[in-house]
Amino acid sequence: MFDLLIIGGGPAAISCGLVLGSASEKPYMKGKKIGMIAYSKTSDLNGAVLNNLFGVASGTKGKDLLEKELEHVRSFSSIEQLPVAAVEAVLPKGGSFEVKTAEHTYQAQAVVLAMGHSTAISKIEGLGNYIGEHGNSLPGVKKTELKHSNLLVDKGLYVAGVLSGSASQAAIAAGEGANVAVQLLTLWNEGVFDHHHDK
Ligand SMILES: Cc1cc2nc3c(=O)[nH]c(=O)nc-3n(C[C@H](O)[C@H](O)[C@H](O)COP(=O)(O)OP(=O)(O)OC[C@H]3O[C@@H](n4cnc5c(N)ncnc54)[C@H](O)[C@@H]3O)c2cc1C
Repeated sequence: MFDLLIIGGGPAAISCGLVLGSASEKPYMKGKKIGMIAYSKTSDLNGAVLNNLFGVASGTKGKDLLEKELEHVRSFSSIEQLPVAAVEAVLPKGGSFEVKTAEHTYQAQAVVLAMGHSTAISKIEGLGNYIGEHGNSLPGVKKTELKHSNLLVDKGLYVAGVLSGSASQAAIAAGEGANVAVQLLTLWNEGVFDHHHDK
C-alpha cells in the first residue's frame, strides 16, 4: 500500500514529487511510501519553446526541460519510480484507491492526478463523477478539468496542473504541484502547517 501515488510526468507531477522528495528527512515522513507513474509522453511541454518560464533560459526546449526535471525527481530515492504506463482506472476501495495500468494494479491511500487536460482523461475509469469542462481553454478548444476545492477533488484525491482547470502556463502547473505537496506535508504533520526549505 502506497501512502501516495503521483500520476503524470509533466511540470505539475514532477514539481509535486520534487517538494515531497526534498522533504524526506522530516520525522513524519519516515516510512512514508510514495510512488510516481511518470508517464511523460503526452505532456504539453514536449512541444514548447520556453521564453517565459521563471528560472529557465530563453529558448529552452520544453522536451529538454522535461527530461532534465524527470532526472531530477528520479534522484530522490524516497520517490519510487513505477513502470511508465498510462493509468486506466482510479477506483475508490474501502477508504483508499486502486490505480490500474494495463499491466499493474497499485493500492494507495492518496492519489495526485496530474495528467493534463486532454479530453481522453474522461475515459479513465473512476473519474467520471469529477469531470467538468475546462474553464480556461482558448475559444473553440475543448479540454477537460476535474472539479475540486483548493485542488482537493475528494478525500485523498488531489488534482494539480492544467487538469485542475487552471490556465496553461508551465509555472502555474508546477506551482499547483508544489501546492498539493505542501497540503500533503501538512496532513502528514498531523494537520500542523509545514513546507520544506533547504538552506
Ligand atoms: C505547443 C505548446 C507550447 C507551450 N508553450 C508554453 C510556454 O511558452 N510557456 C509556458 O509556460 N507554457 C507553455 N505551454 C503550456 C505548458 O506546456 C503546460 O501548461 C504544462 O505542460 C502543463 O503541465 P501539467 O503537468 O499540468 O500537464 P502536462 O505537461 O500536459 O502533463 C501531463 C502528464 O500526464 C501524463 N498522462 C496523461 N494521461 C495519462 C494517463 N492516463 N496515465 C498516466 N499519465 C498520463 C502525460 O503523459 C503528461 O506527462 C505550451 C503548451 C503547448 C502545447
